[in-house]
Amino acid sequence: MATTNLPSGKDKVVFVLGPTGSGKSKLAITLATQFNGEVVNSDKMQVYDGLDVITNKVTDEESAGIPHHLIGGVHPDADFTASDFCREAMHAIDSVLRRGRLPIIAGGSNSYIEALVDGEGGVFRSRYESCFVWIDVDPPLLHLFVSTRVDEMVEKGLVEEARSEFDRDGDYSKGIRRSIGVPEMDGYFRMEASVDGATRARVLEAAIAEIKFNTCKLTCNQLQKIRRFCTLRGWDVHRVDATGFFLKRGREGEGEAWEKVVAGPSKEIVQRFLRG
Ligand code: ATP
Repeated sequence: MATTNLPSGKDKVVFVLGPTGSGKSKLAITLATQFNGEVVNSDKMQVYDGLDVITNKVTDEESAGIPHHLIGGVHPDADFTASDFCREAMHAIDSVLRRGRLPIIAGGSNSYIEALVDGEGGVFRSRYESCFVWIDVDPPLLHLFVSTRVDEMVEKGLVEEARSEFDRDGDYSKGIRRSIGVPEMDGYFRMEASVDGATRARVLEAAIAEIKFNTCKLTCNQLQKIRRFCTLRGWDVHRVDATGFFLKRGREGEGEAWEKVVAGPSKEIVQRFLRG
């Protein structure tokens, strides 16, 4: 059950932090299942309608019946800002609390999370008590994983999704077009009809390599921002080292490793927070 902290009168919310590919969505669903929660997305690209594969939105099957908020619903061309996110996230959090459930905010857009928690004259901190769980992963292992995930996205239809957002003017500065996986494909779409098959394949390979590189770069930037939350912002962030799970990924014992290394320790952290 979601609980209210009686001495402070504040409602409790849980944040799942971590770079892209670290397993935030899976952990948020695990925690929501355990603690009667609902998930509020904090990924700035997943709030838009479309590009389900490229932005790696949670599927119905993955969500395991847990309600998710702020996934889709915003027009792909709209400019959804940090203050839009703060307003919508607060609405979603309050609606989850009204149902007597625990809000679990999960997503990689740390500038949005920072604006929510520390922006607007301290409103958030005055109303909610927060628990931050950070999934950390050894960077080279994470880079390997996200690169493989890009190959899987290609198999699931990344190229056609990106084509739907191809911009003849080459403007990828707005809305969902900023998603990694869209601007990188621009050159390919411009030349695919006018070159031979071998050249086309080479250009596509180069675009995919660029998507992998930019995704790895994104994980590094996200990690830096999370470290800053701990040092400069002084948030009480609980680090869960998921490296042991990543070493088992795709192999026998993966499920046990998830439970032992990531899910188990995270559940303990949240349990203590809810009891406190
Ligand atoms: P910044 O201030 O750099 O935008 P942020 O913390 O607000 O950082 P991030 O989630 O780190 O937000 O996103 C940075 C960039 O990474 C986005 O502008 C977008 O290009 C890309 N990005 C973020 N999430 C996704 C996603 N789900 N799919 C594809 N690309 C994404």
